[in-house]
Amino acid sequence: MIILDGKATSDKIKLEIAQTVKEIVEKGGKRPHLAAILVGNDGASQTYVGHKERACAQVGFKSTLLRFPQEITQQELLDRIKEINANDDIDGLIVQLPLPSHIDEDAVINAIDPKKDVDGFHPENVGRMMLGLPTFLPATPYGILRLLSEYGIQTKGKHCVIIGRSNIVGRPLANLLSLKDEPGDCTVTICHSRTKNIEYFTRQADIIIAALGSPSFLKGDMVREGAVIVDVGITRIPDETKKAGFRLAGDVDFETVAHKASYITPVPGGVGPMTIVSLMVNTLKAAEGK
Ligand code: NAP
Repeated sequence: MIILDGKATSDKIKLEIAQTVKEIVEKGGKRPHLAAILVGNDGASQTYVGHKERACAQVGFKSTLLRFPQEITQQELLDRIKEINANDDIDGLIVQLPLPSHIDEDAVINAIDPKKDVDGFHPENVGRMMLGLPTFLPATPYGILRLLSEYGIQTKGKHCVIIGRSNIVGRPLANLLSLKDEPGDCTVTICHSRTKNIEYFTRQADIIIAALGSPSFLKGDMVREGAVIVDVGITRIPDETKKAGFRLAGDVDFETVAHKASYITPVPGGVGPMTIVSLMVNTLKAAEGK
């Protein structure tokens, strides 16, 4: 069993990006600039935005965090996005989700200039992804594909079972893995909360991607020998022995699954860091595209 080390892989990619940024700046170019919008005080959202800001500093990007109170109106938020769209110094914009319930997330995502949409959530970019055209790929699926590639894991002709059908993970992954491309060329099955007898599908899988947000859902007896296992799940479990007061749990029961797997991602240190670095890749692409 080989650990798919997202931390080491993302560190390597960050060094490559940092080198590119250095060269751009030495030639008199502008540092790539990522802006992040954070609404409210959700603990997990603040942590994720903090990771993104830290990664920007590591690769030499400029970053700007725009914090707004929970009560901000949808119109005010849309106005701020309009300003950022018009600001030539900013290359990429992300809006940390989820947003408060009085704000329509779709309206907010639609307001982002597709050329600055480094999360790859704008319908125009989603459409381009569906068609296999150049675009910003959503960071988590993109990071997973990159991790598989970095470890030389073939996807062509493989059966990939994805558990979860969200617009940010499960469905884009299913699309990308089914494209006539490398990585891609998979036979894809998507499972979700209405799927009956999930283990019937997972036991046939060459590659399983668990993205449902249910700790230790995938157990050893649901997996066949030699399968590649990618654990996307991150759930905070209260734990008083930890300084933060919680520990992170994945969707895979590592104890029972790892010894059957050929490759497996850990939580933390697997998909999480690959997601962050993919956002950096997209931001560099946005800056270079200008
Ligand atoms: P989401 O929007 O809540 O979607 C969860 C999906 O899992 C839904 O499609 C749901 O089915 C399905 N599901 C839930 N319980 C299930 C069950 N018992 N059996 C089968 N399917 C089930 O979640 P998400 O945003 O995709 O995130 C999934 C997990 O990944 C979360 O833990 C999240 O924190 C984590 N995540 C990690 C990263 C990272 O960088 N590592 C990035 C994004 C998300 P229905 O559609 O039928 O409701």
